[in-house]
Amino acid sequence: MDKRFVAAIRVHEHGGIDKLRIDQVQIRELRGTDVAVRVKYTSINHLDLWVRRGLPAVTFPLPIILGSDGSGIVEEVGSEVTDINKGDRVLIAPGTSCGKCEMCLSGRDNLCREYKILGEQCDGVDAELIIIPRTGIIKLPDSISLEEAAASALVFMTAYQMLVEKARVQPGEKVLVLGASSGVGSAAIQIAKFYGASVIAVAGSDSKLEKAKELGADELINYKTDNIHKEVRRLTNKKGVEVVFEHVGELTWRESILSASAGGRIVTCGATTGYNGVTDLRYLFSRQLTIYGSTMGSKSTLFKMLNLMTQKKFKAVIDRIFSYREVALAHEIMESGDHFGKILLRFGD
Ligand code: ZN
Repeated sequence: MDKRFVAAIRVHEHGGIDKLRIDQVQIRELRGTDVAVRVKYTSINHLDLWVRRGLPAVTFPLPIILGSDGSGIVEEVGSEVTDINKGDRVLIAPGTSCGKCEMCLSGRDNLCREYKILGEQCDGVDAELIIIPRTGIIKLPDSISLEEAAASALVFMTAYQMLVEKARVQPGEKVLVLGASSGVGSAAIQIAKFYGASVIAVAGSDSKLEKAKELGADELINYKTDNIHKEVRRLTNKKGVEVVFEHVGELTWRESILSASAGGRIVTCGATTGYNGVTDLRYLFSRQLTIYGSTMGSKSTLFKMLNLMTQKKFKAVIDRIFSYREVALAHEIMESGDHFGKILLRFGD
């Protein structure tokens, strides 16, 4: 297998959609503790857009293969791998870490000093075949399809850490989910409901809100026709929501602060509309709000997620699937926001 070339989606320099390239890249040597995975599906995250466009004061290792989420079939295993076999269906964990430090051993691998997100700080999964350490994959239960796996890992682990581990959502609380039509938003609705909260979903069209309702959202706000915090006050009898699930950023941050109840928690994992959100500090201290920053989730979350998906408690929300050769179109749709849930890329036939 060594010295083989495979197709991969790469970025050599930052910029627009024209900077997406499909290159033939040489795969690295398979070491004893590695597996080779024939990638079947990957999904696009906002992170892919940031890596492609570039971010001020952030250096990405270029050229880089994009993609953090993927699934596939094991093609070959290293001589020291005994618990995974050729032909096994696997999920590729979006993050890697040292596996030895205090953080890794206490289930907080995403705080490891060596933690890297695939497709951000090292080559990602958008390739026909990848070589990865055995510790970077999880065998899939039969009831979870390769499509579902590729659509779920990053968004569910991110939303789980935000709602359960940071904001500690409680039964009976109200959770405001911004960007409910996104992958992470559709995961947040399901997780909040599973933990007994009620959900107010925010999106920019009635058809998206209907889909949010099908996922379990109790109340709906169309931010294009209604003011978010005024609607929240109306729906909560002026109290506000206990938890605000943020990832939209500049466009909604002020509304998110105003929507929180006294003692409320705002948790954010991103800023897709810009990172200069303005916080009116009077609200922060007088209402005794707490703001949590969060990114990704621990690998242990993936096991919980797969378990709950096996029990049909959570479901992957897939908007549509493109061939990897159509990655430019997929990025275009992601940027336009004209989707609900995840956009997948298919590798192979
Ligand atoms: Zn570590």
